[in-house]
Formats: sequence, structure tokens, C-alpha cells
Amino acid sequence: MAASGKQDGGIANAMTVDVEDYFQVSAMESVIRREQWDALPCRVERNVERVLALFERKGVRATFFTLGWIAERYPAMVRRIAEAGHEIASHGMAHFRVTAQDPDRFREDVRRSRQILEETAGVPVRGYRAASFSLTRETGWAHEILAEEGYAYSSSVYPIRHDHYGIPDAPRAPYRPLAGTAFLEVPISTFELFGRRLPCGGGGYFRLFPYVWTAHGIRRGSHAKGHPAVFYFHPWEIDPCQPRIRGTSLRTRFRHYTNLARMERKLERLLGAFRWDRMDAIFLRATGD
Ligand SMILES: [Zn+2]
Repeated sequence: MAASGKQDGGIANAMTVDVEDYFQVSAMESVIRREQWDALPCRVERNVERVLALFERKGVRATFFTLGWIAERYPAMVRRIAEAGHEIASHGMAHFRVTAQDPDRFREDVRRSRQILEETAGVPVRGYRAASFSLTRETGWAHEILAEEGYAYSSSVYPIRHDHYGIPDAPRAPYRPLAGTAFLEVPISTFELFGRRLPCGGGGYFRLFPYVWTAHGIRRGSHAKGHPAVFYFHPWEIDPCQPRIRGTSLRTRFRHYTNLARMERKLERLLGAFRWDRMDAIFLRATGD
């Protein structure tokens, strides 16, 4: 991809999308059971279409960490993502946190989701992202299982302190968690301010905080150290018309519904300000393209 005309043309950064619907996020778990998912109005297809159109306008390729549950119900959508030149990767089957699974269940989950995604999209699946960045210190065994199941990398660690996730002292740059193997963990981007690690890799932080927070964090936290940034968002974050879920806490409602209407324009700005590519093209030597 040509770097000319881009503000930060030097380093290609990883753009990633976690493909799940508005009712599948972990924060809604307490009010919506998985058995109810099929009965809820689904908005993921139209939102992914908008994301694909946005990426096409900006000439960006990205990695789509997709739920097996979604691939089973919307196979044509998954094929469209792959056909547009994006990477298909796994977000597990049904958004169970790693911390809620034992090693055997986890193995089954990552094996099945990879198989379904590969069969649906007709492309190899080499990346995995845990639901809610739930690869924590307690679930370190997950890396070994992912490598054994044929994955080449994971992007499941948020190296910050947060009420729901994170390994606060994990490396901020990509690292090899398994000695003697090429398996990679690619953490979400952070930067340091007054000795504190702060997130700048997307999600609610991008939507809730001013744009400059993320742009500054990418330049100072990643590029100043010579690393690509890793950024993520969800298709429902550009959907101000999604049904409101009742019974959630004030904090969850604030985190989930604030600034949805502004998100697409903000993303467009970010896509134009930096160079972006899919995870495998940046972090794996042989991309298989
Ligand atoms: Zn997710």
C-alpha cells in the first residue's frame, strides 16, 4: 500500500475488528443469556457492510476476529470480508472468556471456531483474540493450546490495569510467550504517561476520549519505540440505532452507548492519519497471500 500522502507513512499499523453483535459483548452477559441471542434483532451484517465500505474508501486492509457463532449464521458475510482482501481470524465460538473455560473446553472452542471459519471463508485462519482480552496471568496455558491447535499468533493481552481484563506488567510490544517456538502474542497498544501505562488501542477508550489521545498514544507509545500500533473496534460501535438493552448498569450503558454517532467519522480520521494493514501482513513473515 502506498505510504505517500499519509501523515505517518513509515510504520504500518494493525487495524482489527472484533466481529460480534451489540448483545454479545461481555458487559451484557448478566442481562442476556446466550440462548436468547437467536431471538434478538441482529445488526451485525449491516454494520460489517458499513465497515467494509469505510475500509474500501480509505484503502485499508484489516484483520476481522470473528465469532464462530457469527460465521455459522452469516457465512456469506464472512466470505465477503475475505474476498475484500481482509484477514479472517478467530474470536472463539460464542464469546466465552478464557477465564471461564478450563483447558479442555478452551481447546475445543478454538479448534471448532478455526475449523468453521476456514471452511466458511476458504482461507487459513492463523490468529486468535480472546473474548474481552481475557488472556490473563491465570490463563497463561492458553498460548500453548493455541500453538498446538495451529494458530500462529494471539492478540489477546491488554497490558494495562482494568476492572475486567489485562496483564499490567506484560510486554507492550509483540513477544514470544512460548520458548523455542515462533508463536507470537501481539498486545493491544498502550503508552506511558507519568510512569503509568494507558490504553490507546481502541474500544471504548477511542470512542469516549478525544481523538488526540489515541493519535498521541500511537506516536509516542508505539512509533517512538519502532513498533506498529494495534487498534481494535466493534461493528456495533458505528451503529447509533442499535436497540437499547434494559437492565444494564449505568457504567455499562455509558461505556456501550456514548458517542456511537460520532464514531464513524472519528475512525475515518484515524484511518487517514496512519498507515494500516492486516495483522498477518505485519507480524508474520509468510502471509500466505
Ligand atoms: Zn469480543
